[in-house]
Amino acid sequence: MTINFGIDLGTTNSAIAKFEKGEVIVFRNPIGQKQTLPSIVSLRKERLLVGEKAREYLLKAPQDVAASFKRKMGTTETYHLGEKIYTPTELSALVLKELKNFIHTGEIPQSTIVTIPASFDTIQSNATKEAGKLAGFEEVVLLQEPIAASLAYANQGNQGEYEEGKWLVYDLGGGTFDVALIQIQDGEMKVLDNQGDNFLGGHDFDREIVEKIVIPYLESQGTFASLPEEMRAATGKYNQLYHSLLIKAEQAKIELSASESAEIEFDTVDDQGEQVEGFLTVTREQLEALLEPHLVHTLELVGTILDRNKLKPEALKFVLLVGGSTYIPYIRTQIAERLGIPVNTDVDPTTAVTVGAAYYAGTKSLRQAPPPSEAVDTSSQAALQVRTAFQKATKEDKEYFAARFEGNIEGLTYRITRQDGGYDSGAKVLTHKISEYLPLVPNSYNEFTLKVYDTYNNPLSLSIPPIGITQGKYAVVGQPLPQDICLEIDDVENQTTALEVIFEKNDVLPLKRTLVKQMSRTISKGSADRLTLTIIEGPGTALPAASQQIGFISVSGKDLNRDLVKGSDVEITLQMSESRDLSISAYLLMTDQEFSDVFQPEARRVNILRLTDELVALAEKVREEAQEAEIQDNYEGAQQLVDLEFEILGLADRTRKMSLEDSTDEKFQLEDRKRKLAQRVDELTRDKYIIRVKNDYFEAKRDIEYVLENFDPTEEDKVALEQLMDQEKSVLATNSSLKIQEFTDQLRRLNFRIRWRSSSYIREFFMALVYGRFGDFIRPNEAQQLIAKGYEALENKNDQQLRVIINQLIELLPPSQRGNINFGGTGIA
Ligand code: ADP
Ligand code: MG
Repeated sequence: MTINFGIDLGTTNSAIAKFEKGEVIVFRNPIGQKQTLPSIVSLRKERLLVGEKAREYLLKAPQDVAASFKRKMGTTETYHLGEKIYTPTELSALVLKELKNFIHTGEIPQSTIVTIPASFDTIQSNATKEAGKLAGFEEVVLLQEPIAASLAYANQGNQGEYEEGKWLVYDLGGGTFDVALIQIQDGEMKVLDNQGDNFLGGHDFDREIVEKIVIPYLESQGTFASLPEEMRAATGKYNQLYHSLLIKAEQAKIELSASESAEIEFDTVDDQGEQVEGFLTVTREQLEALLEPHLVHTLELVGTILDRNKLKPEALKFVLLVGGSTYIPYIRTQIAERLGIPVNTDVDPTTAVTVGAAYYAGTKSLRQAPPPSEAVDTSSQAALQVRTAFQKATKEDKEYFAARFEGNIEGLTYRITRQDGGYDSGAKVLTHKISEYLPLVPNSYNEFTLKVYDTYNNPLSLSIPPIGITQGKYAVVGQPLPQDICLEIDDVENQTTALEVIFEKNDVLPLKRTLVKQMSRTISKGSADRLTLTIIEGPGTALPAASQQIGFISVSGKDLNRDLVKGSDVEITLQMSESRDLSISAYLLMTDQEFSDVFQPEARRVNILRLTDELVALAEKVREEAQEAEIQDNYEGAQQLVDLEFEILGLADRTRKMSLEDSTDEKFQLEDRKRKLAQRVDELTRDKYIIRVKNDYFEAKRDIEYVLENFDPTEEDKVALEQLMDQEKSVLATNSSLKIQEFTDQLRRLNFRIRWRSSSYIREFFMALVYGRFGDFIRPNEAQQLIAKGYEALENKNDQQLRVIINQLIELLPPSQRGNINFGGTGIA
């Protein structure tokens, strides 16, 4: 059984479709027969209205209407409708519920695909799933919109057109812009890369028509003090007028896609009580002037993708246009002209995503029911291992399937059946290698089950994944991660924290990784000290301001059943499902305890004051970097940094002017821009750090060469060094400061191991450690005794004891003095 239902939960419009017998039908709204539902909710006299009806109240009672809430998914922002308060997630759930009413077949789906912009971060993705659950779906599988759109294109009569090829999906809707690079290879479709702006779309054009054309016009027609503020604040005097103007601006904008000019008409009263009759004409030329910077911005993002993938526009078949705003002629012509690639308008921009979601739903099995209890395990056969091989997408009417069995197969039989009952291999004797040609239902997803039976005809409980083959359609290989997922760790050397990339941008979901880290300090049982594992989403090389925290688990000394000693191992496992559920577990080898958590969707908060502070700090950093670049005669770099500083200050200016009451999405937009600017800063200054890190590495290398000559390395040390040197080239080539730093650390640890064995070295180490430090130790008496014992060991040439004493002394140093030996941080390094 497959999921079959697909939903596009859009910022402006949502839709639902179903896959059936190789075809997709888009359901229509029983009221008005439209294929889309405006994503708008309103509360009228205790009654919730969703869609067109709610939209009508935008004009009459905007304070009771919530729209564009997708942009605020995963934030703490709420909407007041009458007396009630709704989160963006709850509002989205209402839209999803309403879409269920479109299903005229009477079915009540338990599972569905819901699409999300490819650039949605983990918090936003989680919030979307949550909305699905609230709407009564037991299972919600997320699909990135550009893949959905491409599936719609490729499966709607265009199948077989390309066996190989790449294209871009350019999706400009009401609230978000996304561009994705898609590749087809052997009938399998894959997103290679994507880039987007969660805060760019048709609504911005509407807003600019109002703010840049209508407001100046109004101000020339009457007396208005602080009109923009009175319009934008939810409690502002002209807030209602603002909403009605937004709707009129949108109507005018849509009209301009077909004609050269459009009119906006309205009435209002100015501050002096004078009646103002508004009537103005907006021309296509005016609109195009407003669009231009946004268009340029989208093309920059396209350029980023092309550069990152080392592609020239000629390498692309076309740019597939999706999203209502791509109806605008200027957007269509300019993309084709400036990129020099044909635009493809084959799909209906407003339903393509839903249609593709349904195609995908047709290939997605419902969540597997738990294995049937009738299955018996006979111990001799429990160890049977199976490996299967088959092509997941095909244009043939039957497909070759092979499986290899390892273990004792004596007396066993197997049987393959197709889920719709249309095929049954019958019981056959099991051999180590079996193969079959499986007949396929055309233009659909075929699922087969392979079962193995013992001599008494009892099925064995083997875990054989379902055999799913899509006939005549393109299949999706996997969805890429839009951002790096990192773990925050202590950078002991620099007394700060750094990020270690766990999953890399564009890694294909689902993902799982286990890594072993060492405690960078001791956490005593019962203490209030904590080991904190923080998961960050954002570029692994970037500044904290460029990323956001998506979850953490924290283990307190109070949770421990014994001390967690510095240097002991922590085994961390991170998992992310295709629908972006992130779970983490930490196993402490020392205490034999496991802590785990599945991250709840955490809401994002934007605090205007803090945002301003962050921007000011960022600008300051950039200024310093620019000065430094100039000192080093890097004038080009300095100029870029100065430009960036200017941009950051401009943004800070906007946040400073913003009222804390502002109810528009602007603050999220600004926060998003801040993160992107911080990423730019990082890109521009990264080289400098890399150079420093590389110099550090070469110094460590010179040092170990010296140690090799002058100390007494064992054969094992020499082999370890050789192995490290084998990796040198590839590590340096990564240009990742973290990787190089890690490598340098390995070299230093080896260095230290060799020295640590030498008598003269530990003697010197001891002398250096205690020289002039008597007063510094935390518990002076204890230290005094240890030092006395140390001198004794020195006298007796008892190296082993001296090593123990050195370690104990280090633990007695205050953290600030442990220098690179220890410092308070996350607790792992
Ligand atoms: P979303 O994906 O954000 O739900 P859609 O893809 O449905 O949005 O696009 C909605 C946006 O498209 C709105 O901003 C709407 O004004 C705009 N739009 C729809 N039709 C046209 C048109 N003919 N010309 C210009 N803009 C249009
Ligand atoms: Mg859309």
